[in-house]
Amino acid sequence: MDFHSERVQTLPPYIFSRVYKRKKELEESGMDIIDLGIGAPDLPTPTFVIDELVKEAYKSSNHRYSPYSGSQEFREAVAHFYEKHYGVTLNPDEEVLTLIGSKEGIANLISAVINPTETVMVPDPGYPVYESAIHLAGGQTTYLPLEAEKDFQPNFQQTPKTDYEKSKLLILNYPNNPTAGTVEVDVFEKAVSLARKYQFAIAHDAAYDLVTFGDYRAPSLLEVSGAKEIGVEFGSLSKSFNMTGWRIGYVVGNRDLIQALSIVKSNTDTSQFLPIQKAGAKALLSDLSTVSENNQVYEGRLDFVMSVLEEMGIHVKRPRGTFFVWAKVPEGWTSMEFSSELLEKAGVIVTPGNAFGKSGEGYFRISLSVPNERLNEAMSRMKYLLTND
Ligand SMILES: *Cc1c(COP(=O)(O)O)cnc(C)c1O
Repeated sequence: MDFHSERVQTLPPYIFSRVYKRKKELEESGMDIIDLGIGAPDLPTPTFVIDELVKEAYKSSNHRYSPYSGSQEFREAVAHFYEKHYGVTLNPDEEVLTLIGSKEGIANLISAVINPTETVMVPDPGYPVYESAIHLAGGQTTYLPLEAEKDFQPNFQQTPKTDYEKSKLLILNYPNNPTAGTVEVDVFEKAVSLARKYQFAIAHDAAYDLVTFGDYRAPSLLEVSGAKEIGVEFGSLSKSFNMTGWRIGYVVGNRDLIQALSIVKSNTDTSQFLPIQKAGAKALLSDLSTVSENNQVYEGRLDFVMSVLEEMGIHVKRPRGTFFVWAKVPEGWTSMEFSSELLEKAGVIVTPGNAFGKSGEGYFRISLSVPNERLNEAMSRMKYLLTND
């Protein structure tokens, strides 16, 4: 019997699952595998956040259902964070919604916005969830290419007018996974003006909003005047506060889009456990010093990885955010061949670029969310494989 729906059966294959199957086999044969494919922080959740969860978990008043749209306290904390960090004012009742991680919010927004056969434009390369969610909602995907020469900013000019005309929603993601590309606010201004002209909505996935280096500060889509009329922004505590397993995030911006999403959600889930929302509020209202500490750890690892890659003849422009390094595979290899060779011969997993879409071919992604000793060991193995040195 096959109970899989057609949409589930025809989901684009997850290229990386093959790698994980092989990882398991090699580990069972006794090989030590170092995984640089991880998309989640290795660092722990800050203690003050855990303390809040524990304290609140004991209160029986917190054991009930949360309001569908999330607790007032969490939504107010998000609004406060936006005011303080971006100078953007939000109404916590209508312009903020609690999410059980931003992933569900992105997927549910797509099904809340498009009818079957309607089109969504996604970045290429991009986070695979966008395309799967579009497929599950019965929609069509069209691609917005990212320009390698321009810090992986969207190539708005090269995209055909007909693609804008048929799109109902555009998804953007900066700081970007997988390319580590970053933008200034002018890119969002351009996107908002296109959205106005061609009448589509924008969803900006800002999962790495606080994972930035040096003086760089990632802008919010909502800093653009008029953005709230057509757009929403997804935020997550997963990456900035090392809270991936907690499942807490939010969406902010256009009230009509948020209302559509909240209708889907109120028929699907009943928001997040109240103590997790309380702990999340604490994190957002903090001075963000734990975030800077994490970023310094990533930056140290980044410099190390870049210097080893340079010794291998692989030059990477220094990213301004995310914990990823997106590098070109050496001459003569495809992404898949290079990552398989690394796994088989060196016991190191990197993500092949084509796992993120067609334009990812020719690249591989290294995650910096791996403890220093393991990262050092992985990079020496990689260098030895390529240079015998
Ligand atoms: C990790 C990630 C998310 C999802 O994060 P949640 O844990 O669901 O909040 C969303 N977008 C991108 C690009 C990510 O890398």
